[in-house]
Amino acid sequence: MQKAKKTKPSQRSFLAPLRFGHDLLEEVMRIIQEQGIQHASISIIGAVTGATFGYYDQEAHEYLTIKREGPFEVLSCTGNVTFKQGSPFVHAHALFGDRSGGAFGGHLMSPSIIFAAEIYMQELSGRPPERIQDPATGLYLWPQGTTAQRS
Ligand code: ZN
Repeated sequence: MQKAKKTKPSQRSFLAPLRFGHDLLEEVMRIIQEQGIQHASISIIGAVTGATFGYYDQEAHEYLTIKREGPFEVLSCTGNVTFKQGSPFVHAHALFGDRSGGAFGGHLMSPSIIFAAEIYMQELSGRPPERIQDPATGLYLWPQGTTAQRS
């Protein structure tokens, strides 16, 4: 009898809705956990009822947290999923748009509550890089020498 070859789905890509009233980052984490994704590129469009995002103070080495009451469009939100401290970690930046057509944004933080949102997720092959704290910037970055092709 021939043994069935076990194949692991890899490099999946899909579109999915994110749920009304939930937090953007938490919804991305939910999908990652449900799908068993550890390494991916993400893109989100939609709308939020309020936004929280960070601006990194390069001298103080800390994030300033900016919180704005919406409603806003999520004009663009892109990011990635790699590893930080042994677990999948989402890093995303978001550009929000207001009623007058103005735009602002930064490093996506919680809470940013979804009115409606759609995610495109592209799973990536290979072992994800692990973020480590970089002494020059204070940020958790991928080690120097990390390339897109890892296996
Ligand atoms: Zn960032």
